[in-house]
Parts: sequence; C-alpha cells; structure tokens
Amino acid sequence: MAFLSLGSAIIDRVEEMTIRSPMSSMTGDQALLKANYHWLKPRYLHDDDTRDFVFQSWVTTIDSKIIVVDPCNGNGRSHPLALFNQLDTPYLERFAQTGLRPQDVDLVFCTHLHHDHCGWSTRLQNGRFVPTFPNARYLYVRQEYERWKNPPELQRAYDLNVGVFEHSVRPIFEAGLAHMVEEGYELTSSCTVLSAPGHTAGHSILHLHSQGHHAFFTGDVFHHPLQLLYPELHMPGDDDLAVAIQTRRRVISRCLQHQALILPAHFPRPYAGYARIQDGGLIFEPVNERP
Ligand SMILES: [Zn+2]
Repeated sequence: MAFLSLGSAIIDRVEEMTIRSPMSSMTGDQALLKANYHWLKPRYLHDDDTRDFVFQSWVTTIDSKIIVVDPCNGNGRSHPLALFNQLDTPYLERFAQTGLRPQDVDLVFCTHLHHDHCGWSTRLQNGRFVPTFPNARYLYVRQEYERWKNPPELQRAYDLNVGVFEHSVRPIFEAGLAHMVEEGYELTSSCTVLSAPGHTAGHSILHLHSQGHHAFFTGDVFHHPLQLLYPELHMPGDDDLAVAIQTRRRVISRCLQHQALILPAHFPRPYAGYARIQDGGLIFEPVNERP
C-alpha cells in the first residue's frame, strides 16, 4: 500500500538510509530545545539530543505520470565523509517494493544538486554511471544547473559535492535525458516548479495540487520540523543563508495558505506533516500514520 494519497495523487517513499545527527548542528540553544521537548521527543529528538536524519525519495503517481523527487545519494561513489563513501544500500530493492520499476518512471526532479538529492539519478553498470531511470525525462532547474556545471569557485566552497556533477548529472545529459526548466514549469497539470533559493542558488520545490488538496515537496527548505517554528535555525552549508531564511518563511506561509502537506527530504517518521496555527502560534503536525 502506498504511503498516502492526496486528491488523485498516490505518493510513496523510498528510503535510502537513516543516520543519527547531533541537534547541535542546528542549534546549541538548550533553553530553546527544552521549551520544545514536549512535541519534539521522542519523534524528532532523542534523549541524547541527537535526531534521526532520513534520506528518502518521494515517488508520486499523478495524471498518469510517475515522478521521482530527490533520488538520494547513490551507491558506489567516493565521498569525503565516510558516512557517504562507497555506499551499498538496497535503494533499488526498496524502490521495487513500491510496485514500480525504474523503467516506468516518467520524470525525475531534483530540488537541488547536492549529493544526497541527485545520486540515484545514475547507477554503476560495468564501471560506468548510467541513468537509473532510462525512460525518464530528468528535469534540471537552469539556475541550479549553472551553479554546478562550471564548478571551480562555488563548488570548492562546498566540498561535500566534489565529483557529484560528473557521476550523477553529466551522464544524464550525455544520454539525452536532461531537460532544462524554470520557475512555473508544469510537470503535469497538477504539479508545478517553484523557486525556493538560498540552500543552493537554484534550489526549487514542487507544488502538487489535486482536487482541492495541496502538497509541497520542499527538498531542503527544512531539515527538521523545528525550523517551521524557528525559520532562522539552519545547518551549515547554505549558499546564501539570508535568502534561505527568507525562502523558509515564504514557504511556511504558502503551506499555511493552502493547508498543504509538507513532504520534506529528511524528516524522520512519519516523514511528512502540516504547519498549523494553534493558540496564535505555529505548530508542526505530523501526518497520520497508516495503522
Ligand atoms: Zn539534503
């Protein structure tokens, strides 16, 4: 059974892995954390002030199209952090559990081109990286593509991404599967690209709307639910922190306006939820889990 349905969309998720990450990478403010323990624990914060950080793709069927959002890290790549180096995860086996096959996928969308959002665009075959979804059109937001294509200065400023363009993006262009898009591009009549810059220069999100229901695939606009209440909280590595915070505020108000489901890249179980106003303040309400 799929993870959830929304209007006529069927939404599933494919998890690559979950790591434990110290909350101190986002805030060292113990008083702030304590004031939020009542809703953070145990779902979003462990007793040792670490949290689960999930790497997952969203796989949506809408308007007879199958769309993969943010295809995680990928196997068999060198990475400066041991955590991501030469991964060997059963991502494709888990993908198969959705009942879909890679060759069925119509569209692949990366919210941005960090290593953990585009890796499974390709897979190793006989020592070469080839497209994982051979019949898909891979959509690249032009500004994001430009940010990484000629990397010298900017890419070195984010050395966690060295080599990613070569193994996870260039093979898609060489295979003729890449398609450049801009803000407002409609993947289908129910799914639109929205610019959400800051985390990276061309970071973008998807707005899904079906039968009066709304959802946003928010990529890395949020790394943790606490950022909905405190949009200034952030992890290191944003291209432009001030713009990223502005974007976070704007996306929050859009989600409130549409009462939209938020489908982020990294939240732990139940992986998605809503921003709501309660007693004059904002809360994060996790989506109902299937029994
Ligand atoms: Zn990420």
